Amino acid sequence: MRRPVMQIDILPVFDDNYVYLLFDPDTGTSGVVDPGAAEPVLARLRDLGRGLDWILLTHHHADHSGGIPVLRRETGARVILAKKDVERVPGIDIALDIEVGEGDRVEFGDREFRVLETPGHTRGHVAFWFPGEAALFCGDTLFSLGCGRLFEGTAEQMWASLSKLAALPPETRVYCGHEYTLSNGRFALTVDPDNPRLRARMEEVERLRREGLPTIPTTIGLELETNPFLRPFDPAIRRALGMETASDVEVFAELRRRKDGFRG
Ligand code: ZN
Ligand code: FE
Repeated sequence: MRRPVMQIDILPVFDDNYVYLLFDPDTGTSGVVDPGAAEPVLARLRDLGRGLDWILLTHHHADHSGGIPVLRRETGARVILAKKDVERVPGIDIALDIEVGEGDRVEFGDREFRVLETPGHTRGHVAFWFPGEAALFCGDTLFSLGCGRLFEGTAEQMWASLSKLAALPPETRVYCGHEYTLSNGRFALTVDPDNPRLRARMEEVERLRREGLPTIPTTIGLELETNPFLRPFDPAIRRALGMETASDVEVFAELRRRKDGFRG
């Protein structure tokens, strides 16, 4: 008999953040990724009749971590977070919580995820990859049709982080921190207007948003075909930027700069 898959529920909070609820039906283990707010998580857990064992945090920003103090008080859940972020997340208890870094393997019920360090948006940013579930939780590093802003890192670091995620199996489902796909896609079309896969994805994205549905999860394979931030080596994108002979990092940095100034 096939083993039941890990359940992943999408919970929209604030204007455009996504919180993800994880549940391993084999062991009853329950987790949440990036709870920016506690109340919607507690309400959903009540509906589902579940407790909470684990809080997975990709980075310290308040829109991802703000719910932690109340969630841990109300549920006793323990936090899994980057070693580099321990000092700047309120309410971390070194004795109870788990600090992680590159390559760490962590048990979740009788499943396992791996930690990938993905600096660029912040210096402590990590992503969580569940190889057995083909699922990736990548916070504000990779977005559908875009990537996170460079608040604390360099273009070199972000390009290395994105390259690491791009090398995961193409069927990997990508659960990112925000619903930015529509505006990301409008920018993507300015630098890659003739990409038929991007145009088709945008039609789907417009339909989903009209119906009030998330555009997440995307997949690594779809992002490789449609996300310009994963393809600075693409001749069509280079031509659009007039950067045929530049390095991949230079093209990536220019894409990021243009996106920062883009009002679509
Ligand atoms: Zn952030
Ligand atoms: Fe964020």
